[in-house]
Amino acid sequence: MKTKIFRQFFSLFLFAAFISINAQIKPTIYVLATGGTIAGQGATAVASGYKPGTITVDQLLSAVPSIKDIADIKAEQVANIGSQDMNDEVWLKLSKRVNELVSQKDVDGIVITHGTDTQEETAYFLNLTVKSNKPVVLVGSMRPSTAISADGPRNIYNAVACAVAKESIGKGVMVVMDDRILGADDIAKTHTLSVGTFENPNFGHLGIMYNGKPVYTREPVKKHTTASEFDITNLNKLPRVEIILSYSNATSLFVDAAVKAGAKGIVTAGVGNGNITTEIQNALADAVKKSGVAVVRSSRILSGPTTQWDEIDDDKYGFSTSWYVNPYRSRVLLMLALTKTTDYKEIQRMFTEY
Ligand code: ASP
Repeated sequence: MKTKIFRQFFSLFLFAAFISINAQIKPTIYVLATGGTIAGQGATAVASGYKPGTITVDQLLSAVPSIKDIADIKAEQVANIGSQDMNDEVWLKLSKRVNELVSQKDVDGIVITHGTDTQEETAYFLNLTVKSNKPVVLVGSMRPSTAISADGPRNIYNAVACAVAKESIGKGVMVVMDDRILGADDIAKTHTLSVGTFENPNFGHLGIMYNGKPVYTREPVKKHTTASEFDITNLNKLPRVEIILSYSNATSLFVDAAVKAGAKGIVTAGVGNGNITTEIQNALADAVKKSGVAVVRSSRILSGPTTQWDEIDDDKYGFSTSWYVNPYRSRVLLMLALTKTTDYKEIQRMFTEY
């Protein structure tokens, strides 16, 4: 009898110990800092001028002590730049580091602090090159850390809360800003100053952060992360791709300059449904034929697809079109596409899938 009671008591004790140990284990989130306004400092609390990429990741995180309640935070400074200076070198370094970290069993997710100017490009680059289902969340702010109602601390809290949630697994790379979760599949900065600057203009945002928890309302619609065919593991640089803007009277000046500079690819930010002036069209046709440059037509319009063949016979010129990928993200996809192929039909397939 005594042994039975002892056994029951002992199992109860083990169960309680198990529950309490589990309650203390928090998910491990790595915060990788790259700079931006979120790490910026202004002269006063209302100054509109400031210097991005000034404070360190530890200073940044000290403004959000409550994240320690939801995650075990580890921080690394990958760069400290305004994202207008983001470049291939930092992208490759960042993607390789993320891949290293997410392959570790004891890492549950990644949060990347980043300037908002080129955040859409970095988010898309990582969406195509990170090989994991674990949540990878980019976050920035529109107001510097010294401003009244700085949006950085709330955004960081939400980004970490998004990264620790089980529901965030397998959603591809995300951007969390202004209580919204945006997919890298359709991300665009749409306002120069507003804290709600990011939109998914074609597909709608993935969800919202509500009371510190993600509430998802759609799935990513494009291939990403574990389903991506792109691998940057052994790359030290990316093929050169330029973007050429169209407008009334636009000439072939910049196409010729890009070809001369050795561009391997050109993305056009065309008018309307990716249309370009006849002079640019002829110069691009020459670039494909004579120099083997890959050309992808995209549009300067915020939303809607750039479709094949509507006003331009793409097969005749060997052009591909971007569908829902805007010119800035098209440049990213074309750089990665060119690491695998120069065939315009194959590139076209990639633009419909990613
Ligand atoms: N120029 C800044 C940057 O992209 C703007 C920002 O972060 O909002 O780094």
